[in-house]
Amino acid sequence: MDLIIKNGSLVDSVGVYRANLAINKGKIEAIYSNPDRFSAEKTIDAEGKYIFPGVVDSHVHFQLQDLGKEISTDSFASGTQAAAFGGCTTIIDFADQTRGASPLKGFLERQKVANSQVAIDYGLHVSKTDLEFLDEIIALINEGVSSFKFFTTYSWRNLDLHDSELIKFFSVIRKNRALAMGHLENDSIVQQGIQQMIDEGKLDPIHHAESRPHIAEEEAIQKALLFVQKTKAKLHIAHITTKEGSDLLRTAKQQDMRVTGETCPHYLLLNEKAYMAEDGYLNLMSPPLRYAKDQQALVNRIKDGTIDLIVTDHCEFSRKSKGNGNLPFYKVLNGIPGIETSLPLMYDLLINKYKMDITKLITLMSTNPAKLFGLYPQKGSLQVNTDADLVIFDPSIEKTIRPEILHHNIDWNPYSGMKVKGWPIATILRGQILCENGEFIGPKKAGKFLARQLTYQ
Ligand SMILES: [Zn+2]
Repeated sequence: MDLIIKNGSLVDSVGVYRANLAINKGKIEAIYSNPDRFSAEKTIDAEGKYIFPGVVDSHVHFQLQDLGKEISTDSFASGTQAAAFGGCTTIIDFADQTRGASPLKGFLERQKVANSQVAIDYGLHVSKTDLEFLDEIIALINEGVSSFKFFTTYSWRNLDLHDSELIKFFSVIRKNRALAMGHLENDSIVQQGIQQMIDEGKLDPIHHAESRPHIAEEEAIQKALLFVQKTKAKLHIAHITTKEGSDLLRTAKQQDMRVTGETCPHYLLLNEKAYMAEDGYLNLMSPPLRYAKDQQALVNRIKDGTIDLIVTDHCEFSRKSKGNGNLPFYKVLNGIPGIETSLPLMYDLLINKYKMDITKLITLMSTNPAKLFGLYPQKGSLQVNTDADLVIFDPSIEKTIRPEILHHNIDWNPYSGMKVKGWPIATILRGQILCENGEFIGPKKAGKFLARQLTYQ
């Protein structure tokens, strides 16, 4: 065997069980009870620790480009290395179609950029920004893209699909058994909201939240649900932020619609007060942070199984790129880091504070994203003959989050000062130890592109 991890508590989406793991040639070779059954080149004693399947973060933006210009601070290299420190072994990033250009060509270019850099495995969603090249969806599926993103807002950046386009898009998605993933905010309400703030001279970060009101999310989700009901497409709702949005998802599920939804750590841990803090401009992202009542509603919807995934929407910018606090809110680049801290933050919130079942955490952060996006059981499970992507997690380590202890490419963090109990101490990708005890000891370019399966039966 190449590696043995003994005496740990294995956690997957089904249960917690004390067992030993033997890993060979990148796969889990055996899960067994007698610790002396195998020997290996390296053995890790995980007494008192949990072994999780690696986190699958299916909503990540590294090396983000906007109108052909590279704007985010994390490259695929720095971003995936930080992800590994946080216990994440798979990401799904995006190849955004430039309106009027071939999405297949864009996908292949993005794949080339990522391939030479990634420390962990990755897939790509493709964002469709017009109805040109709809026939390329088949070629993209053959390349391993099973999910296609759309926007209902950002008309000023040429990203949105209009209502009639959406219906057509959903029909094609349905026909090809793919998954539609929506950034859902009403464009006209958002545009008008921003203009109103400008007219009234309200340019501080807090007015970002006011400019994109709850109803913008509620309306867009409602409409998308109507359209997928008519077209029978399968819909995944990205970053739900409001009580109203999560209630709509719940009702849709009660009606047996093929719909799933995600939220992010920042919508659970932060609220609009973060915009009034010092350096509040750094916390600008879209949709914006909401109120305490929304935070609680999202936790409730996680507990009752309505929300399927927790993902980070990691998209990080330096203070300088965000304007050093000198820009009106509507000119500040949107996005915050999160990939390295999501597992400890969510463990601390959902397990330590809300006493949720630990299997539920793994379901939300590893198993469900792997299943929804066509990577299961190779990712998101602990099963013999699947990829040995593992996190060893020590529930007793206490840390205060600060940018200095993290490996992101920036000097700020939205959770700075938060105390957590529980921290990933080793991350293993296909049997290779990438990080151990705070050091990156593995190969830095071991990641590979994952061709994903269609999951709409
Ligand atoms: Zn995003």
